[in-house]
Amino acid sequence: MTRLRTTAVHGGRDDLAALGVHALPIDLSTTYPVPDQAEGGFALQALADGAASATSPVYARLHNPTVARFEQALAALEGTSSAVAFGSGMAAVTAVVQAACVLAGRPHVVAVRPIYGGTDHLLSSGLLGVRTTYAEADRVAEAITPDTGLVVIETPANPNLLLVDIAAVVAQAGGVPVVVDNTFATPVLQNPFAFGATYVLHSGTKYLGGHGDVLGGVVACDEAHAGPLRQVRIVTGAVLHPLGGYLMHRGLATLPLRVEASQRTATDLAARLAGHAGVDRVWHPSLTSSPLLGTQLRGPGAVLAFTTREDPTEVVRRLRLITPAVSLGSVDTLVEHPAALTHRLVPGAEREASGVPADLLRLSVGLEDVEDLWQDLDRALPAPRRVAVKHLAETR
Ligand code: PLP
Repeated sequence: MTRLRTTAVHGGRDDLAALGVHALPIDLSTTYPVPDQAEGGFALQALADGAASATSPVYARLHNPTVARFEQALAALEGTSSAVAFGSGMAAVTAVVQAACVLAGRPHVVAVRPIYGGTDHLLSSGLLGVRTTYAEADRVAEAITPDTGLVVIETPANPNLLLVDIAAVVAQAGGVPVVVDNTFATPVLQNPFAFGATYVLHSGTKYLGGHGDVLGGVVACDEAHAGPLRQVRIVTGAVLHPLGGYLMHRGLATLPLRVEASQRTATDLAARLAGHAGVDRVWHPSLTSSPLLGTQLRGPGAVLAFTTREDPTEVVRRLRLITPAVSLGSVDTLVEHPAALTHRLVPGAEREASGVPADLLRLSVGLEDVEDLWQDLDRALPAPRRVAVKHLAETR
């Protein structure tokens, strides 16, 4: 087994030399010739039953070699035997719920807030025919019923970076599958499968793609759980386009370097923000004393959150370099107001109760120079209170 940076560069490329190519081939076929129709039928049946591959892909909704290479690479990084890719992170969340709850006949979910607002809304909406109980991380066991098919956690959580002890939740789940949304940490900083998670989910739209130009999702898991996910993907058509598979696979090669660099800058900015007189509170794992940091989570990551003593929309309006936009994990730094955007559909009182104040701003730190980012933030933040300056002057 190779080390992280090597796996990130070489994963999912085993067949390239035999193909006589160096860059990842993009297979755009929607259909594949099956001269022997009976043999084609066996291939179709195998794929429909959840097989990872067959003698022919038959049809692009059943299998795609470009996407399969990306899945192999991601599985290698997460330490799982398999991975199944989807057209978006939300399609991946949907497929996990369908496989673990709907297919398995256990229509109850337990989720620990906060989680991404879209996931929260999906689980609350009843759209998938499941009922959701929200529980604190240390009260998961009490929320489990014989009908519970899935436990949902995110760590670090979107948007307040709350850390959840994966192994402790898995122990409480008592055999009920646990999905960990690993989008914020990426496999560079955390491998939830090693702590007992059944499914490790990513919005590949974020760090995996890394350049803000591809929408996709992926779930890493063992082969026994991958089969039902593929079955769901085939019948619902929630497939990842091969171009998306190519871009996310290419993104993996630089993932460790991007995460390490933006994490360094985020840690520096978190400390500077914490010392700024116009800032009320900063959330970043580097500022906590959580025992999970350095054990479960190998680094604090590159997303932080903060509140100021001013209307957050005013602060965002004054930024010049940092892009005011949802999403995260891109090469450029993005800021957004979760209560207005990503977590808008979560009822306000419940959002606040999960530790996400209405005036919290989320900052996804990119690859720019830290001094340019700080200059932009410092200019946009509320000025230090005049009264404090006057007081200092008077007592000098
Ligand atoms: N999970 C997390 C933590 C997210 O932040 C997001 C999107 O912001 C999603 C899942 C959904 O992913 P997508 O937008 O690719 O559907």
